[in-house]
Amino acid sequence: MKKIICVILAVLTAVLSCSCSRFNAPIGLYLPPPDGGMTVRFLNVSQGDCTLIESGDEFMLVDSGEYDYIESVINTMKLCGVEKLTYIVATHPHSDHVGGMRKVVNTFDTGSFITTELDSDAYYWTELLELLDDKEISRIDAEAGKTYKLGDAEFTILAPLGSGYKEENNYSVTIMIRCGNAKFLLTGDAERESEYEMLSAREALEADVYKCGHHGASHSSTAAFLREVNPVYAVVSCAKHNSYGHPSQETLDRLSLLGTKVYRTDILGNIIAVTDGKTITISGEAKADSSTYTVGEKNTVPSALDLVGNVKSKRFHDPICSSAKEINEKNRISFTSRQEALDQGYTPCLQCQP
Ligand SMILES: [Zn+2]
Ligand SMILES: [Zn+2]
Repeated sequence: MKKIICVILAVLTAVLSCSCSRFNAPIGLYLPPPDGGMTVRFLNVSQGDCTLIESGDEFMLVDSGEYDYIESVINTMKLCGVEKLTYIVATHPHSDHVGGMRKVVNTFDTGSFITTELDSDAYYWTELLELLDDKEISRIDAEAGKTYKLGDAEFTILAPLGSGYKEENNYSVTIMIRCGNAKFLLTGDAERESEYEMLSAREALEADVYKCGHHGASHSSTAAFLREVNPVYAVVSCAKHNSYGHPSQETLDRLSLLGTKVYRTDILGNIIAVTDGKTITISGEAKADSSTYTVGEKNTVPSALDLVGNVKSKRFHDPICSSAKEINEKNRISFTSRQEALDQGYTPCLQCQP
């Protein structure tokens, strides 16, 4: 009942205060998903990640963003009708992903808390673990292959597949969320090492919406990985003019070769994707930039995103690597997967590490 009142209030507020297009949030932001469908809200938390997923009567939160933005996240969640989170997924213990999570656990009932085996000494993480203990919420270490149900949707853990990573971001929990035929892939801050492990594991990685790993950084969203995911829409969560240069031009170039439409929180604010399992409509809050796609009608991967080998040096490259562009036409060979290049005795370029 509380949820219905919240939705009615949200719609009324929007109607009264908004003379703009119907596609504009806040209407879209607070509305529940269609029957049997799912809403995925990529909340704008400046430099960080925070995704709220709703299906049936259930909610799940993947990361919380930094502590500084948690008040606004919690207000949005309340207006969406959240009282309980069936799942929290904390992809990895970096503050831009879990800095505000204590406040979330303190505000909403929490079912299961799924995270990675990596721990941190940071106060926001140790205090979060203590809070979970106090509330007798058990910590589940993500196990690749496990599937969980959320309303009319379900999600499967794809990574991490290994351990002992030098780069902590590779411990990120990666999940594939399915509702009907629609698929969403969220990789946290996973970088190329984790992406290549997922490719080697021959996981089904194809998805309609892909939240770019590590805020669109160049060491994530590699060409080999993107070829398999082949997303129609990519979402980048990052701050305006951030000091990391996220998203990187390399990632944007690869997505452009693929023909993927990019939605960025630094430009569009909150980004909302709604699916009934057959179509996906995605829009940004700041601009009426809405697009609808019928699931299954995506293009095949263009050859422009092939990996490029040099028959002389026996090295292979990402198609946007400067060395790839210099290879003479007669020495050039292309591969449609990493494995194909490796099987033919080619080694990865040390610069682009494809
Ligand atoms: Zn990180
Ligand atoms: Zn991050």
